Amino acid sequence: MRLSPRHPRYRSLVTRALLADRVRSGLVVPEGLIAHGRGEAFDYLLGERTIPSARRATRVAAQWLRAARRPVVSVNGNVAALAAREVARLERALPGLGVEVNLFHRSPRRARLVERELRAAGVRTVLGVRPTARLPRLPSDRARVDQRGIAVADVCLVPLEDGDRTEALRALGKRVISVDLNPLSRTSRAADLPIVDELVRALTNLAHDLRSPRGNPAAGRFLPFDAAGALQDAEATIARNLRKRVRPPPGRPRR
Ligand code: ATP
Repeated sequence: MRLSPRHPRYRSLVTRALLADRVRSGLVVPEGLIAHGRGEAFDYLLGERTIPSARRATRVAAQWLRAARRPVVSVNGNVAALAAREVARLERALPGLGVEVNLFHRSPRRARLVERELRAAGVRTVLGVRPTARLPRLPSDRARVDQRGIAVADVCLVPLEDGDRTEALRALGKRVISVDLNPLSRTSRAADLPIVDELVRALTNLAHDLRSPRGNPAAGRFLPFDAAGALQDAEATIARNLRKRVRPPPGRPRR
């Protein structure tokens, strides 16, 4: 299908076409399309832009990643399809960053497809293709991690994660930074530092912040972050945007 750049939702249509194509190749699972649709709905409500509190959260996230002993970013099928280039930029901006494949619906073939997508975008080292450890108290394949990566990480960046895994990581004492457009999701609520923003926008800002460090924090020194405040701000933005929509135009009383 040919998409016209003049269509008002051109970018969204291009992204959907890309994801549908990646479903056909096996990189993305059909459930990933549903997750994307949920994200799109929240992006719509947030105004399809990075809200100031999310931008601030991203700056603190960059500080946490630089202060970490072993920072790791976890990559699933949607993240590989939508933001492999941005993940490569993160790795370049922070050479100690581990990049680990993490699949809810895991098969050796899908793990290799994620790895291939990341390498094609310039990621140098991909962990988790053949997992070597498990997260305790988490059933199913989601518990499988890399002994050199998430298993030993102190700070985990988890874009588009599910709530159970976020809680399992936190229970192990790891600091969790999430990227999720839904401020109500269990992931956003469980994360130490929820970034309520669209994946590509958030990772682009994060790579920018990592490249322009403000001072060099000592390892283990983390700036404080008000997670509840960040979530409240995203919810208030959604509520404000909805109120603007339902307010009748001036001079036309609502029936
Ligand atoms: P939870 O278990 O945390 O409550 P969930 O069941 O709502 O999560 P999943 O389907 O596991 O969600 O994960 C998808 C999440 O990722 C959704 O909350 C959705 O808003 C978010 N999401 C999807 N696409 C994007 C995107 N491009 N950028 C940011 N967030 C996204």
